[in-house]
Amino acid sequence: MYEAFVRQAHDQLGIAVACGVSMKDYTTFAIGGAADMMAVPDQTGQLSALLKLCRQEGVPFLLLGRGSNLLVSDAGIEGLVICTGKLKKLKIDGSRLYAECGASLRSVASRAQRSALSGLEFASGIPGSLGGAVFMNAGAYGGEMAQVVDRVDALDGEGNSLSFGRSDCAFSYRSSVFAQKGLLVLGAWFELAPGDAEEIKRAAAELNRRRREKQPLSLPSAGSVFKRPEGYFAGKLIEDCGLKGYRIGGAQVSEKHAGFIVNTGGASCDDVKRLIAHIQDTVYQACHVRLECEIRMVGR
Ligand SMILES: Cc1cc2nc3c(=O)[nH]c(=O)nc-3n(C[C@H](O)[C@H](O)[C@H](O)COP(=O)(O)OP(=O)(O)OC[C@H]3O[C@@H](n4cnc5c(N)ncnc54)[C@H](O)[C@@H]3O)c2cc1C
Repeated sequence: MYEAFVRQAHDQLGIAVACGVSMKDYTTFAIGGAADMMAVPDQTGQLSALLKLCRQEGVPFLLLGRGSNLLVSDAGIEGLVICTGKLKKLKIDGSRLYAECGASLRSVASRAQRSALSGLEFASGIPGSLGGAVFMNAGAYGGEMAQVVDRVDALDGEGNSLSFGRSDCAFSYRSSVFAQKGLLVLGAWFELAPGDAEEIKRAAAELNRRRREKQPLSLPSAGSVFKRPEGYFAGKLIEDCGLKGYRIGGAQVSEKHAGFIVNTGGASCDDVKRLIAHIQDTVYQACHVRLECEIRMVGR
């Protein structure tokens, strides 16, 4: 069905497109059916060309970073998944750092630390890509992307280049203009503060120690399932409802942190969705608080 698209991507753009790629291998939840097609460009210029080809051929597309905030349908993803994993160049200019969208937050934070630049310590344990983190306005331990991003290079759905200063990014809790308008993040400049490399290293290590202590990092998950409801903590509400350890199929409310759902082996997307609905209903009935999903559900 997509033979013509695969041929055009190869012949016109020099980009290899694979068909029928299991999303279990591309998500930290290890859940999901196959993407019809996947491309892994190795230059940012290829992203714009791919978007234009998708638009021309009427093929839907989805941007994939590290797949750490995604719940993919068991029936897979229609069209083209564009994986940014090879777009990971970093550069430093004084107290500014530039990262391409596919760079892992860990590598961005580590580069800042080695250059004695402070501000990204909070991000070193978030298992996402730079693009996914800017899109989601990822944050932890009092820090978030909104505090350190200076400028973002982006593309619209037609492949046109755009540039956003911090105040144009419309950052809010786990959202941004990129999420609101479906824009593609190519890369971002961060404005950081000169500091002491050893102190920055120690601060990041301490946050990662706290993360390991609290979070079920040995099992596949997509992090916190729900946004923090105003005035509450989702994990505490779920725990207070007696749901810690509650399971549907292979999906379980983590015994370690009730805000996480873990894949104990062979969980389907449907298992997770039913567990989410059960948690939402139970918490609403007991506490009159509506839990809203932070993880993004994608696919057919
Ligand atoms: C164990 C664990 C701990 C976590 N801890 C935290 C935490 O402390 N704080 C936190 O905020 N999050 C946390 N997360 C969630 C997740 O890591 C973040 O949301 C992260 O920013 C997602 O990045 P990603 O590259 O994995 O995005 P993906 O999951 O690949 O994609 C998420 C969304 O971003 C879009 N997207 C990806 N790349 C781009 C791009 N370049 N341009 C435009 N759109 C794009 C995708 O289409 C999708 O809609 C955690 C997850 C796990 C598994």
